[in-house]
Amino acid sequence: MNFPGFDGNEALKARLSAAMASGGLSHAYIIYGESRGSMEKLAQILAAAMVCSGTDEKPCTHCKDCRKAFGGIHPDIKLVLKEKDKRNYAIEIIRNMAADAFVMPNEAEKKVYIIPEGDFLTDLCQNAALKVLEEPPAYASFIILAENPGNFLETLRSRCIELFVGLDDSEAPENNSLASDFIRIFKDGDPLEMASFAVGLEKLGKAELTDFLEKLYAALVREMRYGIAPDKEPYFKACDLISLLIKMAERNVGAGAISGALAVGANTILK
Ligand SMILES: [Zn+2]
Repeated sequence: MNFPGFDGNEALKARLSAAMASGGLSHAYIIYGESRGSMEKLAQILAAAMVCSGTDEKPCTHCKDCRKAFGGIHPDIKLVLKEKDKRNYAIEIIRNMAADAFVMPNEAEKKVYIIPEGDFLTDLCQNAALKVLEEPPAYASFIILAENPGNFLETLRSRCIELFVGLDDSEAPENNSLASDFIRIFKDGDPLEMASFAVGLEKLGKAELTDFLEKLYAALVREMRYGIAPDKEPYFKACDLISLLIKMAERNVGAGAISGALAVGANTILK
């Protein structure tokens, strides 16, 4: 699969290319991310790949369908917009989309609906969308863009392939094994394991400790945004704790005191 103008996100690209090679793209995606530009670019590429009528790797970018798709004028790629002066999507808009999905495409083999502001789909709207997502006509596909997975009903999420876009690779917790160890122990919730993890931090120098805390903060934010845990409260509290510890480190509080505060603080949150 081609990804013109969409940088980075190599793992995501590999995953989509593999899907494309083995049977084609899914009929429903939710794209999450912090960068609206990247999310919209990926939605455009997916939609173009779905309607592409070229014989080269999709989206070929030069067939008539790709040219219209990338020009934003393909009649079978429909942007489902909410009313400008309303906070949420009106239910009629989603019902109209669901009804329209049963009208055959105009030019392409597929018809693609892009919902750019998925964070503003009420439960009622999501249930209306769900009806068509569960049993869509073979040619209909749906792409929802959103910042927060927590806004979606499980029933809707389970019908969609979820894609996470645009996160800076340097923020990934795997780039700091201590941060990913902390997240794992925090999820397990074993206070003794947390205490012995903290003891291991005492030998870190100031720069290493600060680096760990900053990566950990980013990893916790990532868990809050993209993690599957339904209860985000412990992550909010852990972020508060870590930002306090970062301030302590900046004021040259020793690694022993900081690691002690981390263990006590984390175990208090987990109680
Ligand atoms: Zn094409």
